[in-house]
Amino acid sequence: MLPVTEAEAIILDLVQVLDSQQDVEIVNLEAASDRILAAPITSKLDFPHWDNSAMDGYAVRYQDVQDCSPDSPVILEMVEEIAAGYQPCVDLKSGQTARIFTGAMLPKGSDTIVIQENTQRSGDRITILAAPKPQEFVRHKGAFYRAGMPMLEAGITLKAADIAVLATAQCTELSVYRRPRVAILSTGDELVTPEQPLQPGQIVDSNQYALASFVASNGGIPLRLGIVPDQPEALKNAIAKAINSADIVLSTGGVSVGDYDYVDRILAELGGTLHIRSVAVKPGKPLTVATFDNSCLYFGIPGNPVSALVSCWRFVQPALKKLSGQKNYEPMFVKARTRYDLCADGKRETYLWGQLHLVEGEYEFALAGGSHSSGNLINLAQTNGLAVVPIGQKLIAKGEQVKVMTL
Ligand code: AMP
Ligand code: MG
Repeated sequence: MLPVTEAEAIILDLVQVLDSQQDVEIVNLEAASDRILAAPITSKLDFPHWDNSAMDGYAVRYQDVQDCSPDSPVILEMVEEIAAGYQPCVDLKSGQTARIFTGAMLPKGSDTIVIQENTQRSGDRITILAAPKPQEFVRHKGAFYRAGMPMLEAGITLKAADIAVLATAQCTELSVYRRPRVAILSTGDELVTPEQPLQPGQIVDSNQYALASFVASNGGIPLRLGIVPDQPEALKNAIAKAINSADIVLSTGGVSVGDYDYVDRILAELGGTLHIRSVAVKPGKPLTVATFDNSCLYFGIPGNPVSALVSCWRFVQPALKKLSGQKNYEPMFVKARTRYDLCADGKRETYLWGQLHLVEGEYEFALAGGSHSSGNLINLAQTNGLAVVPIGQKLIAKGEQVKVMTL
């Protein structure tokens, strides 16, 4: 049994990241949300594009107004009015000012904005009542970004703010990594689809749905290959098809030591190299990880629904993110105070599911109520954190700090 961090390191090492030249799609901005940028972005434009005003007021020459005050105001002649979106025509001379609005271009000759609250207007005569600071309220060309500098780096997931940056840089078509294809198959004679009436002894194949949702929410394309019975030939055909159609295969069930657990044997028969067969983790001990010559990465995941999802969160998620081209793929852990005793057997790294709450700036972990059996998927609902009890430890008492993986 491999320790969790060793298994994680092996898996991440096996991942072949999508190629930033070949495994890409060109998408327009409307379709870019949540995609992974495949090439860095630079712009030929400075930001701001030109000197502009940060306030509504008057553009002035600082020298004209530097000594003014309510007792000795300065009177300037307004020679132009510049709304946002217009190019100024006049070159300001000493003694002149221009009415200006937020975002409008500064006229030549001006260097400072006096906010309108510090002025009085009578026709074209503008009284400046207070001296501004030099260059006050001017957003200078290139102050936020200089043309040609790195703007967005490859490997980021595009969110609203990034999309705004791309739009403003007029980058309307961009190269993003294609979404990885992830084949999902459920093994087991006992399984039926949610639509089928349950006969005695049968179980609904919830894993197919859970894993497809997991894959889609991590940016992959789930290929649902359905239920495969515990028959070596059928299983071999299904697994061979999965390997040839996907970047990653996730099969659930059939990897423990039962009489009908054929997956590992079939992977070997199909020419796979097995790198991991079990991990010192609870739930999820029988985890098979194999690779194939076509670079497909295979995860044989235990069938119990909780084990299946915990294995996906802990091991598949970082691998899928890394393969997708994401720069940040490592799982995230936070420190939290546990609201209840957390018990484990001390023999395997134990993941207990529940909810992470932020209370006055500090995390608290509330263990899910009910049984912590790997078959109990009911109390797994709304889980957003997995508390980790390390090997060798049997109790983390209520009120103590615990490491929690965020989901
Ligand atoms: P296995 O890992 O094949 O020994 O499966 C262990 C147990 O997990 C089975 O007895 C089922 O109760 C359950 N199980 C297996 N596959 C699924 C599935 N696809 N969906 C829901 N439960 C499953
Ligand atoms: Mg089974």
